[in-house]
Amino acid sequence: MPDFRALPSVDQALTSDWGRPLVARHGRSAVAGALRATLEEMRLAIRAGGDGAALAAELPALLSGRLAALSRRRLRPVLNLTGTVLHTNLGRALLAETAVAAAVEAMVSPLALEFDLATGGRGERDDHLRGTICSLTGAADATVVNNNAAAVLIALNTLGQGREVIVSRGELIEIGGAFRLPDIMARAGVRLVEVGTTNRTHPRDYEGAIGPDTGLILKVHPSNYRIEGFTAAVPAQRLAAIARAGGVPLLNDLGAGSLVDLSRQGLQPEPTVAEALAEGADLVTFSGDKLLGGPQAGFIAGRADLIAAINRNPLKRALRLDKIRIAALEATLALYRDPDRLAAALPVLRLLSRPAAEIAGQAARLLPEVAAALVPMGYAVGLCACRSQVGSGALPVDTLDSAGLRITGPGGDAPDRLAAWLRDRPVPVIGRIHDGALILDLRCLDSDADLIATLTAP
Ligand SMILES: *Cc1c(COP(=O)(O)O)cnc(C)c1O
Repeated sequence: MPDFRALPSVDQALTSDWGRPLVARHGRSAVAGALRATLEEMRLAIRAGGDGAALAAELPALLSGRLAALSRRRLRPVLNLTGTVLHTNLGRALLAETAVAAAVEAMVSPLALEFDLATGGRGERDDHLRGTICSLTGAADATVVNNNAAAVLIALNTLGQGREVIVSRGELIEIGGAFRLPDIMARAGVRLVEVGTTNRTHPRDYEGAIGPDTGLILKVHPSNYRIEGFTAAVPAQRLAAIARAGGVPLLNDLGAGSLVDLSRQGLQPEPTVAEALAEGADLVTFSGDKLLGGPQAGFIAGRADLIAAINRNPLKRALRLDKIRIAALEATLALYRDPDRLAAALPVLRLLSRPAAEIAGQAARLLPEVAAALVPMGYAVGLCACRSQVGSGALPVDTLDSAGLRITGPGGDAPDRLAAWLRDRPVPVIGRIHDGALILDLRCLDSDADLIATLTAP
């Protein structure tokens, strides 16, 4: 006969010396819920022959551990020491201080989102961004949606539904996270017409494909790969002329779509939105949280009649931006009016333009403290030169000189064990495993103290 008498009742436990502090911390309902579940498990264990008194003695610690685990946030800040500045899985661009302040204000205060303060009548939410985007890119008009995938979707659907869209076989891309161009095109209700081959597409391929059913020509920036060797692509200007002669619009999906010339930051030039429009694209699409350095968003800039048609598409309402991101974007775009101070104010550009020598100095400073934390665990820590990436499909083959710490240990699984331990820290540290070692690229580490604090926390 199982003996449950050693287990407290829920009420006894809630009012016990160890139960009351848990109630004060987590609330009565959460503690009672966890208690019921834990007591039920213990009754099953006792039925199976377990020792009731021993189980009851474990109850306070077990419960407090469970409640702590339940109350821990899932979406937690981490230290991005992967060397990838725009890391999609770690949330891409960090926002500028002014953008954060604007977002917070939008969260806590009513604002003139769709309200025209001059007339007292209705306004458009896009109006807060349209003017700056147009003046920065030379576009006649612009609109903004949830992300660049949505921008491509609504542009294709508006201009090409039920019609053919011509794309080079060399540009039928997949971007991580299930953005595959053929699938997006199918969902947009357009018919994909592939031209050329994987490595070579010629003007005559496009010209031969234009017909009465053509809705538009789509050009896609090869964000996350390069085709090298025996290759040919049709230059944007030439493609624009072909589209114009065929009487169809040209949509250029730039992806990262920088608003400024990145060679100022010592990076390879990525095509800017202004250049793509000047080359004759009728519409250009690009992300808000890649090189632009703002929150997640997708911009469409270009011909006013086409933008007006996109804004009339019922999908626009389903894909529109919320006030918090509009506020953050307005503040982010405002920084572009002062190009001289942009790199200092915009975290993405600041991180991308950090000189390798400065990062190497930081690594040398951190080495003794990181070694003090990890050497007792059996690891060896050294300095290393490494290469950072821009990430998010921007400048895929262009890497940046950087520096960091290289950590090795006994056994072939040492890097994996260390990576798991680092992920389990109060502020998880995300590095990358390369060549049997764990590399911590310090390009994106703003504060040395943050790393030391999380490594040495109990
Ligand atoms: C990143 C990218 C997209 C998708 O943009 P999101 O903002 O992630 O939705 C689409 N096209 C290209 C060329 C890209 O690089």
